[in-house]
Amino acid sequence: MADPAMATVFGCSSLTQFLDFGRERRLPLRGPETQALRAQVLETGTIAGFEVHTRRLDGSSLWLSVSASLVRDSEGRPIALEGTLEDITSRKQVEKRLHQTEESYRSIFEHVQTGIFQTTPSGKYLAANPALARIYGYDSPKELMATLTDIGSMLYVVPARRREFQQLLHATGHVCDFEYQVYRKDGRAIWVSKHAWAVRDESGGIRCYEGTVRDISKRKLAEDDLRQAERKYQSIFENSLDGIFQTSIDGQYLSANPALARIYGFSSPQELMDHLTDISGQLYSDPGRRQAFRDVLAQHGSVSEFESEVRRKDGSLIWISESAWEVRGQAGELLHYEGLVQDITTRKSVEDQLRHQAFHDALTGLPNRLLFMDRLEWAIHRTQRKSKYRFAVFFLDLDRFKVVNDSLGHLAGDALLVEVAARLKKALRPMDSVARFGGDEFAVLVDDITGTLDATHVLSRLREELGKPIIIQGRQVFTSASIGVVLKTWVYDRPEQVVRDADIAMYRAKALGKARYEVYDSSMHLAATSLLQLETDLRNALEFDELRLHYQPIVDIHTGDIKGFEALVRWEHPRRGLIAPAEFIPMAEETGMILPLGRWVLREACRQLAAWQTLKPTNPPLSMSVNISARQFGDIELIGEIRQILEETMIPPESLKLEITESKVMENAEFAVRMLTHLKGLGVRISIDDFGTGYSSLAYLHSFPLDCLKIDRSFVDKMGDGQDSSNIVAAIVGLAHSLGLEVVAEGVEVGGQREALQGFSCQLAQGFLFSRPVPGVEAEALLVLGSCQP
Ligand code: C2E
Ligand code: CA
Ligand code: CA
Repeated sequence: MADPAMATVFGCSSLTQFLDFGRERRLPLRGPETQALRAQVLETGTIAGFEVHTRRLDGSSLWLSVSASLVRDSEGRPIALEGTLEDITSRKQVEKRLHQTEESYRSIFEHVQTGIFQTTPSGKYLAANPALARIYGYDSPKELMATLTDIGSMLYVVPARRREFQQLLHATGHVCDFEYQVYRKDGRAIWVSKHAWAVRDESGGIRCYEGTVRDISKRKLAEDDLRQAERKYQSIFENSLDGIFQTSIDGQYLSANPALARIYGFSSPQELMDHLTDISGQLYSDPGRRQAFRDVLAQHGSVSEFESEVRRKDGSLIWISESAWEVRGQAGELLHYEGLVQDITTRKSVEDQLRHQAFHDALTGLPNRLLFMDRLEWAIHRTQRKSKYRFAVFFLDLDRFKVVNDSLGHLAGDALLVEVAARLKKALRPMDSVARFGGDEFAVLVDDITGTLDATHVLSRLREELGKPIIIQGRQVFTSASIGVVLKTWVYDRPEQVVRDADIAMYRAKALGKARYEVYDSSMHLAATSLLQLETDLRNALEFDELRLHYQPIVDIHTGDIKGFEALVRWEHPRRGLIAPAEFIPMAEETGMILPLGRWVLREACRQLAAWQTLKPTNPPLSMSVNISARQFGDIELIGEIRQILEETMIPPESLKLEITESKVMENAEFAVRMLTHLKGLGVRISIDDFGTGYSSLAYLHSFPLDCLKIDRSFVDKMGDGQDSSNIVAAIVGLAHSLGLEVVAEGVEVGGQREALQGFSCQLAQGFLFSRPVPGVEAEALLVLGSCQP
């Protein structure tokens, strides 16, 4: 039996169809549920709300809720089931969907990496997911929930944080990024961040908290590191000895450290930043320096050891070295500059000193050869570029430096050089340079001259300055220089060539009698090379016996009787023939070869005299005059040498006359007196040679132990012509006689001179009028004759 509604439940249009549907064994209530239902009914006799899954006629799924009871016959045997069926398919479908959704949430809850919790306001867990358990170090959510029964005291490292969290949550209903530290199960503290919201009941009271938890320990550690690094950098910034800065592109300070303030003379970085508002204008002594700095930065992105002179707060100047770099933003735009500053003033000044030392002469402070050559090179460049530009070069060598040095000592020599340097500087114009080349050699660059006249002006000023007496160690010393001049400087392209030619010209000036200048011309080069050759040759001359002595008679001016001879050296050069002393004596003097040469002359002259005295004994005996150079006179050994020669030759000492020029004597009067006294002690006689050419002061004649004056040839020469010097000669003769000195007139060439001299009662004469200097044999012939008659 079935009611028609039942047919509808099963999707049948009529009861008949429903009955057919059941009969065709497609019974709507079959399957395991039906078996279970039947079993239960048989046992209990009734069933209520039993849910059965079956199908409708069209095969679609149908859920039924069955309530039924067993119908029995009179004997109690079950004969039928009687009850109702309710179609619960749609409810079942909703339930199923709900279950599915829950399943998927549960899956998220179970598998998500973020911790998810539900807790009571009192601090107990209602739910926790595996991720939360993992974060807190528990094996399972269950373990976590069982263990942490009071969150505030058991989980939070700082329990007060939980209260803060709750206050926030209660006030606003949710909390974001709440960071705090918790204890894990193993006791280790970690940092977590939580999002949470309050879940309220119908009445608005808070039922529970829900939310998520993330482990942010790693981030916190990184933050810590960052903070530490920041602290470290802060400390470096504060305590660094180097100045550290950040500046804007337009030259403002963005930050500065204490060291920078110190370097620039400010009491604090703040003061520095307040004061220095325009770096390019206020800081750098050269206003263009900041731009140069920025240019390098722009080109390379950084700059290292950029050295500049800057002004400190008090206005003093210091040197700094900057290393800086650009700081750019995300998009590559230039934000500002950063960098370091070192105070390198001390280093700079040491460097300056070293550079100065490298380019200057320590004694005089003048530039040295190196610097001079550099300037000379510049001048040559300028000549090549600017056609109107001209310069001249002088090369100076002091004439008597060695004498001063040897006789007065090195200190005096040094003092002389210092004084000479000062005088050279004084005589020059500001644009000229003077350098010491070493020893007593100086070079002068006369810059930017318009012509020869300019150079000559400078030259005469130089000579004038040098001509003034110099007081050294309380003594008056006279100095002069031989100067080589190069005027045609435009023909050169190397500085060495200019100096070489100036040197050649100087050598020439020296050879021509010192205290003079010579202008270089190309013929000198040849002469110089031969001069150099000569110097080498002269070294051999002594050894190969190439020196000769010629003798010039000194006669009684009235009778022409030979009273003595002057020994004059000649050099019989194997290729060049006879060379006059003027050509090699200055060189021998300069090189020191004069000492052995002079010894040879002395010995040879005395040997010859001894022979002639024997040949022609007279009363007083025949005399021999020998020239003594400055160098020889400055050499104390001379005394011993003469003593030995006198002993060897056995001539009476008073027949040897030493001729010394007055300038040689005057160079160092005190020494001269001592030397002369020693020589006099040997018994020899002293002649002042070339008298009248050196010092105008005759006062010294009194203080020196002298025997004879030789009136210089130049006076004799001028007697009787336009510029009559007769008066002077007369005065000299008178003076000499009043001092008890013998007088010899030199260079008597003509009879008129002889007569004039006779008139002044001059006793002795020497000159071509009587005889030229002649070789020993010829002199001997004259001697045998006994007199020289013009
Ligand atoms: P001095 O000592 O003044 O020698 C005299 C010079 O005048 C000699 O030149 C001689 O030849 C020259 N003379 C003599 N009478 C006349 C004359 O009437 N007219 C002219 N015009 N000249 C005359 P000399 O021999 O060429 O010597 C030049 C200089 O070389 C000497 O000048 C002397 O300073 C130096 N000298 C020569 N021999 C020696 C020497 O053995 N040792 C040193 N240290 N110097 C010497
Ligand atoms: Ca002489
Ligand atoms: Ca002379």
